[in-house]
Amino acid sequence: MPLIAENISFLKSQIPSSVRLVAISKTKPVGDIIEAYNAGQRYFGENRVQELLNKKDLLPADIEWHMIGHLQTNKVKSIVSFISMIQSVDSYKLLVAINSEALKINRVVDCLLQIHIATEKTKSGFSVPDLYENLQSEDVLLLRNVRICGVMGIASFISDTNQVMKEFANLRECFHSLKDSYFRSGIYFKEISMGMSGDYAMALKEGSTMLRIGSLIFGKR
Ligand SMILES: *Cc1c(COP(=O)(O)O)cnc(C)c1O
Repeated sequence: MPLIAENISFLKSQIPSSVRLVAISKTKPVGDIIEAYNAGQRYFGENRVQELLNKKDLLPADIEWHMIGHLQTNKVKSIVSFISMIQSVDSYKLLVAINSEALKINRVVDCLLQIHIATEKTKSGFSVPDLYENLQSEDVLLLRNVRICGVMGIASFISDTNQVMKEFANLRECFHSLKDSYFRSGIYFKEISMGMSGDYAMALKEGSTMLRIGSLIFGKR
C-alpha cells in the first residue's frame, strides 16, 4: 500500500467512525492529494485561498473542501460557491461577509466559530467573552445564508499534555454552553473540530467530532 493510504488506514483504525477526518493538505502537492483521494479520503482542508483555488481545479469535484485558515472578508467571494465548510470564522464581520456572498448565489454555507483556546496570542479566534458579546449584541441567528455547525479550536503547541487537555476541555464546555443557550433549537450545531497530528488522541478523549490532520497523513516535507 502506498504510504499515504497506509497512514489514512492507520488513522481510521484509531478513530471512532462517528468522528470525521479532515486531511489538511496545505503545502502538499496535488499528487499527494490524489493518493489520499484514491484511498477513499473526501474531506480536505486548506488554509490559503489562492492555494486552494489552484489545487481545486486540478482535483475531483466530489472533494469536500474545508477552509481552516484566517480568511479575509474580500476573499470570501472566490470560495463561497464551492466551499463545503468554513471552519475559521473568527469575527462577526467575516460571518456577515460570508452570509452576504452566499445570499447572492442562493447558498447556505456551513461554518464553525473558531475559538481561541491556546495560551499563544498569535492564534486567531474569538475569545469566549467576545463571542458571547457578539451573540448578544448582533443578529447572528438572523443570518440565513450561514449555518453555524459548531466550534473549532487549535490547542497550544506545547509538550504539557495537562494544559492541552485543559484547552480541549474548555472548547468542549464552550460548545455545550453555546448549544444550551443560543443554539438550543439548532440541529446543525453539533461539531467540535479539535485535534491535529500531535494531539488528536487527547482531542478524541475530550469529545472531538472532527480531526484536522496533516503531517500524520502526508508526512513532513
Ligand atoms: C496545519 C493545520 C492543521 C494540521 O496540522 P498537522 O500538525 O500537520 O496535523 C490543523 N489545523 C490547522 C488550523 C492547521 O493550520
